[in-house]
Amino acid sequence: MFYIIKVEHRFGGGIVAKAEEFNLLEFQRKFGTEEVCEKYLFEKRWPKGLKCPKCGHGEYYYISTRKLYECKECTHQASITAGTVMNRSKLDLTVWFWTIYLVSNDKRGRSALAISQLLELNYRTARRLLHKIRHAMSERDASYQLAGLVEMDDTYFGAPRPKTDGRGTTKAKVAIALSKDENGNPQYARMKVIEAVSTDEIKRVAEEFIQKGSTISTDGHRSYNQLEDNYTHKSQNYYESNNTEFLRWLHVIIGNAKTYILGTYHELEDKFLKAYLDEFCYRFNRRFNTKQLFGRLLNACVSGTYYSVSEPSA
Ligand SMILES: [Zn+2]
Repeated sequence: MFYIIKVEHRFGGGIVAKAEEFNLLEFQRKFGTEEVCEKYLFEKRWPKGLKCPKCGHGEYYYISTRKLYECKECTHQASITAGTVMNRSKLDLTVWFWTIYLVSNDKRGRSALAISQLLELNYRTARRLLHKIRHAMSERDASYQLAGLVEMDDTYFGAPRPKTDGRGTTKAKVAIALSKDENGNPQYARMKVIEAVSTDEIKRVAEEFIQKGSTISTDGHRSYNQLEDNYTHKSQNYYESNNTEFLRWLHVIIGNAKTYILGTYHELEDKFLKAYLDEFCYRFNRRFNTKQLFGRLLNACVSGTYYSVSEPSA
């Protein structure tokens, strides 16, 4: 296993061990009403029953219109969605559950346009909803680090953008790390938008993504030289080397990420590139458990912190 838990999750580290699996009919039957969605959330968040977060009392009044639980002792009100990505959302829980289901059941991903049409939502609402779900994906993967044998490289994403000084064009720069098993098969991937392919940036990305003491393979570009401080660094010149296996999977995955992002989202908005890369990696890292994706993503949304999405001006 080349994936270790870095940070304790919220709710007392209570990650649900095995997510449930649902096909479309099961999903529809199980999550058809607000009441069942709320009950499901309640059991996820407070499996041992609700104790007042303020005074510890165990009895409460339920205020159904606002989905609040008011303590009979101290009148503190607990919200079922507080501290989750669903916090303060005016959308029905059924809409959240449907979106999470639709997102997790199409490996190509769902665009805001598709969600707005399928669930008859306003486009901006659908976009905001998807960004909150992506945020939950990002947070979940951010609590893990790659370890063992890891390959690292950098690439460019998206359409060329005009440089502010009017000379030439630039594209978004992205660093990628991929862990592999003893047989050289890909395990887990992480990607990050970087300002520049510099020693400082590469070092920062490595420290965020990769457990110290791991072995990192790179193509030997000078920006990777400082990895030797915390890692065993193996470099090979990609072009001079006859080793066709070297960084092969890493480049396959980069290609897949580009196809995925351009295929689903058509035009790449720079400010959302991080979210799209995180979504790609989240799916890639769970590619062997696709049937559990809905349950896992729902868990991630329930335990994820509130995320406010700033709308682009246009
Ligand atoms: Zn209380």
